[in-house]
Amino acid sequence: MIDVSLRIGILDLLLKLKEEVGTSYLFITHDFGAARYFSAKGGGSIAVMYLGKIVEVAAAEEVIQNPLHPYTKALISSVPVADPELSRKRKPLKLKSLDIPSPLNPPSGCKFHTRCPYSKDICSKVEPELKEVSPGHYVACHLYQG
Ligand code: SF4
Repeated sequence: MIDVSLRIGILDLLLKLKEEVGTSYLFITHDFGAARYFSAKGGGSIAVMYLGKIVEVAAAEEVIQNPLHPYTKALISSVPVADPELSRKRKPLKLKSLDIPSPLNPPSGCKFHTRCPYSKDICSKVEPELKEVSPGHYVACHLYQG
């Protein structure tokens, strides 16, 4: 959480190092903008976690442009955009609750069901598996499990 200009400079330095020595990074952040910049520029993927579990994984731009999991949708819809036109068009996803459950005592089934606006009966009973729903795009949600 350092100054934006410094942050971009450091991310660019890490990307340059990646090209020079052929290394890989596991970059952990709460900042979707930084994740997009770092992953898309470096040709990487984004994995979205909720209460310690990966709920969606795909190439960075695929996650940003076509989010599937309701938690990813909520995260992306809450990221501020500089374009006022685009900002007016975007509809933030309304969650059932803003209370975040304790990771020490997470909800049964899908850990997101206490907040998810699309929650159905099965969601509180069965934990959804992470499944590939289109090439290279994985999501753990009963909405996509047939
Ligand atoms: S499994 Fe159910 S509660 Fe969990 S994210 Fe999907 S729809 Fe929502």
